[in-house]
Amino acid sequence: MNLTDFGLTKEISEYLADNSFKDFTIARVICEYRERYIVSTGVNQYEAEITGNLRFSAHSRADFPSVGDWVAVKTYDSDLAIIHKILPRKSILERQMIGKPGEKQIISANIDVAFIVQSIDNNFNINRLERYLTICHSAGIEPVLVISKIDLSTKESINNALNELSTRHGNVKHILLSNTTKEGLDQVVEFIKKGKTYCVIGSSGVGKSSLINNLLSKNILKTLEISQSTKKGRHTTDHRELFILENGGIIIDTPGMRELGLTDDTEGIKTTFNEIHNLSLKCKFPDCTHLTEKGCAVLEALENGIIDKKSLENYRKILKEQEHYQSTVAEKRKKDRQFGKMVKNIVKEKKKYKY
Ligand code: GDP
Ligand code: ZN
Repeated sequence: MNLTDFGLTKEISEYLADNSFKDFTIARVICEYRERYIVSTGVNQYEAEITGNLRFSAHSRADFPSVGDWVAVKTYDSDLAIIHKILPRKSILERQMIGKPGEKQIISANIDVAFIVQSIDNNFNINRLERYLTICHSAGIEPVLVISKIDLSTKESINNALNELSTRHGNVKHILLSNTTKEGLDQVVEFIKKGKTYCVIGSSGVGKSSLINNLLSKNILKTLEISQSTKKGRHTTDHRELFILENGGIIIDTPGMRELGLTDDTEGIKTTFNEIHNLSLKCKFPDCTHLTEKGCAVLEALENGIIDKKSLENYRKILKEQEHYQSTVAEKRKKDRQFGKMVKNIVKEKKKYKY
């Protein structure tokens, strides 16, 4: 195995050629557990930590490595490494940090394709799909919808679902899957290409683990060999891993990645609701809410049956959430600034008394 097997891209190769990394070894982060990492060079696997420098200069969680990252490391002994630099990321999958409004957490880096799983029996929902599409589009990740548990459904309801999909998002690629009968599994496998990195997202209970297990049990080439010291104190439900399938595709499975909340997704909203967004640029008032305004291009399109009512409602809802997120971030920044000023003043006062 080599770095290409782990998904080394042309962009990273070029970046390495343009910048001097001759004193470093290049590796990919394949497992993360509370700021401890396992990185692989394709030939060897190392337990790794970040340099103190990287830690002190980190402004946020985004400055720490994540599974999927390419890193420049120095190796010690046969199984220890120190991470000195994170190489530029092609895509970043992030979510709203739980319990810390306005803060983002990187879940995984350099993912090419996300399988968005929705089960046909009780989870298939285009509004929810639009949410996931938004996340994927703002992360720069290609979305593929997997409609699972088709063995529990009838032809008729599958067709209804597909009709609804084609009305609202006809260009989204989709696969019909049963993890139980394995129908459609080959299509998922066919979709997976050598050297590309994939992840599986969706609500709880829709069949994500079953899909990953099916892919792994059928195709796994190399599972992670976790060394003994990392295993200690490690909860199996709280770790992140990267697997390579037999056909050369790379799957990243992290529990946190499966439940995603919107963060800074303006670009993703524009792409997902492309038609509505483009129309909104033609509205008479720049701050048009597309509810009652005269000269609203969006409402006109709705009346003419050009856009879907449910998508418009969801667009408004997601935009509102986005605004809320942004105002939380702004509020937080303001507080941080005030705190900074306060500290400065205290330092100043202290100096006054000293001299
Ligand atoms: P996750 O929470 O998304 O990872 O969902 P799981 O893979 O754990 O699946 C939740 C439950 O649904 C389990 O009991 C699975 O056996 C079942 N399940 C998953 N996929 C299918 C499927 O395609 N058909 C049927 N009938 N059951 C499934
Ligand atoms: Zn409008």
